[in-house]
Amino acid sequence: MKKVAVIGSGISGLSISRMLSKRYDVEILEKNQLFGGLIKCERIEGNLFHRVGGHVFNSRNELVLAWFWSHFDQENEFLKATRNAKILMNDSLIGYPIENYLYQLPDEQLKLIVNELLTLLKQDRKEAYTNFKEFLIGNFGQELYKLYFGPYNSKIWNTDLAAVPLHWLDGKLPMPKLNEVLLSNIQKKEEAGMVHATFYYPKRDGSQFIVNRLSEGLTIHCDYKVVSIQVQEDQLLRINNGDRVVDSIVYCGDVRALHNIVQIENEALKNAMMNVANLPSNGTSNVLCETDGNDISWLYLPEDKFKAHRIIYTGNFSDTNNEGSKRKTCVVEFSGKQEQALMLEELKRLPGNLKALAFNYEPNSYIIQHKTTRADIALLRALLKPYRIFLLGRFAEWEYYNMDKCIEAAMELEKDSF
Ligand SMILES: Cc1cc2nc3c(=O)[nH]c(=O)nc-3n(C[C@H](O)[C@H](O)[C@H](O)COP(=O)(O)OP(=O)(O)OC[C@H]3O[C@@H](n4cnc5c(N)ncnc54)[C@H](O)[C@@H]3O)c2cc1C
Repeated sequence: MKKVAVIGSGISGLSISRMLSKRYDVEILEKNQLFGGLIKCERIEGNLFHRVGGHVFNSRNELVLAWFWSHFDQENEFLKATRNAKILMNDSLIGYPIENYLYQLPDEQLKLIVNELLTLLKQDRKEAYTNFKEFLIGNFGQELYKLYFGPYNSKIWNTDLAAVPLHWLDGKLPMPKLNEVLLSNIQKKEEAGMVHATFYYPKRDGSQFIVNRLSEGLTIHCDYKVVSIQVQEDQLLRINNGDRVVDSIVYCGDVRALHNIVQIENEALKNAMMNVANLPSNGTSNVLCETDGNDISWLYLPEDKFKAHRIIYTGNFSDTNNEGSKRKTCVVEFSGKQEQALMLEELKRLPGNLKALAFNYEPNSYIIQHKTTRADIALLRALLKPYRIFLLGRFAEWEYYNMDKCIEAAMELEKDSF
């Protein structure tokens, strides 16, 4: 059997390893002491802590769903839920996505927004927006941009929205037509187009349950950081100066680190690795909290007065997440690295009588693409392929992937290259 090293044990590494392990001798090399990457969770005094976000699963891709459910018993091991997301503005709760719940806004705001939407509707609208900001203003108008889309997205992305290319949006935001926006407000229709409008969630242990199941039977070496990759004369790949020699490598780590790892004499490849070495990303600080009960899944916090941008009521996803608490639990998410003292102050101002139970800072949560990023990664991928080094996952491909997209990318990689 040919040998494959998979670098990284997040959902991407676990998925491709399962797909390849019937035909290849696969080893996963993971620099962390625990496997699972972004989706691993831990128990804090019995309560489940999604250390990053609050991972729920769904997909629009039937093949991904079929692959996923071939590993799990959907009925007995998962719960299915309908998203109940809200936006907190002016101390009131507005439905999410906001464009479908304009009727819940105060009269004055609603008038301004509807007038603007009607004007936009009459205009011959530009189809090809070049960046995220243009897209948001062109689709929803200045008023709604000022009220929600601008502040929320600036907070979460912490970057100039005009510099974010539009292809970033593929599959992430519904592309609503204005007449549909107005109609859904009049008819008070729920929106079902987004991938997580309904979702699946493990009955126990959240995304850690997914990690545990997918890792069964795989060979995973934790605490193993890959620092070098070289090519031998016989074209085999040497990892960490020959500590391991393999036929192929699937790299699921951070593409920005690759120029320090891949030691191959190829000027074009070196340039391509340097081209992506300084891509920007955002980290997130997360606080596991106890909270008073509610029936919300995600609460968005666009207002500048809050430093946090979202509360994920993970305790509502499954009761087993609250086993150490008399109340429910949730995760409060902040952009960037925040001091604990600041977060504790903020918790006092947020709804739910929050009490902090644990903190985590994840330096790499959100990738930010530039206009040339996709082309830069495509070139790098093409230059690595002859050496049988492949890129896979959110940070290796620099794509805003959810778990399902990581699985889809793994399926494509298996089909095209193995
Ligand atoms: C706040 C937030 C909320 C989210 N919510 C959802 C959600 O609800 N549903 C959903 O489907 N998706 C969600 N996502 C997206 C999801 O987390 C990612 O798509 C997925 O976890 C990415 O997995 P990955 O394997 O590509 O990367 P990672 O999980 O980052 O795995 C990469 C692994 O590689 C290891 N590694 C890196 N370099 C090396 C090296 N040199 N040697 C050895 N090991 C190395 C790392 O330690 C890491 O374990 C969310 C993301 C965020 C940030």
